[in-house]
Amino acid sequence: MQLPYSLEALEPHIGRLTMEYHYGKHYRTYVDNLNKLIAGTAFEQMSIEEIVKKSTGATFNNAAQVFNHEFYWKCLAPEPDKEPSGGLYSALEKKFGTLEELKRQFTLAAMSLFGSGWVWLVKNQTGKLEIVQSANADSPICQDQTPLLVCDVWEHAYYIDKQNRRADYLEDWWKVVDWKAVSLRY
Ligand code: MN
Repeated sequence: MQLPYSLEALEPHIGRLTMEYHYGKHYRTYVDNLNKLIAGTAFEQMSIEEIVKKSTGATFNNAAQVFNHEFYWKCLAPEPDKEPSGGLYSALEKKFGTLEELKRQFTLAAMSLFGSGWVWLVKNQTGKLEIVQSANADSPICQDQTPLLVCDVWEHAYYIDKQNRRADYLEDWWKVVDWKAVSLRY
């Protein structure tokens, strides 16, 4: 997908060089690999969600990384809404009390994820909000959960900007999370 903003649009929180590598190279490679892997197969006619749910091995890894990254790009915006709205706001109050508490628990999940992966706010199978971690390319759509928000905690998401400092990345990442996009998905 086309990035919905320019490479430097998220500065100073996420730098242009990070985006050049993350969007322009890492994500691009997953897209190119997936296209090669599915050429001439039944997967070619499927949506990205369908491929993720039905594939295994290298096709799954690349497809899930394409889905997860596209979801990630769409969670961020240069001029984001700072607060959740509508149904999400009340669901969030019920589950976490405050937005600050949700952020605290989400950040804790991101900090404690060992190795490469993703942290998600999802609506689970019973319709409740939940914070879940996924390792490597794994995605909550495989467990029939509805993703609302995702943070990429692979090192390639922050190494250029913050080196090893994942906590600094998260602090700045929250500043470009677009609660409008997240609320609309609820
Ligand atoms: Mn990534």
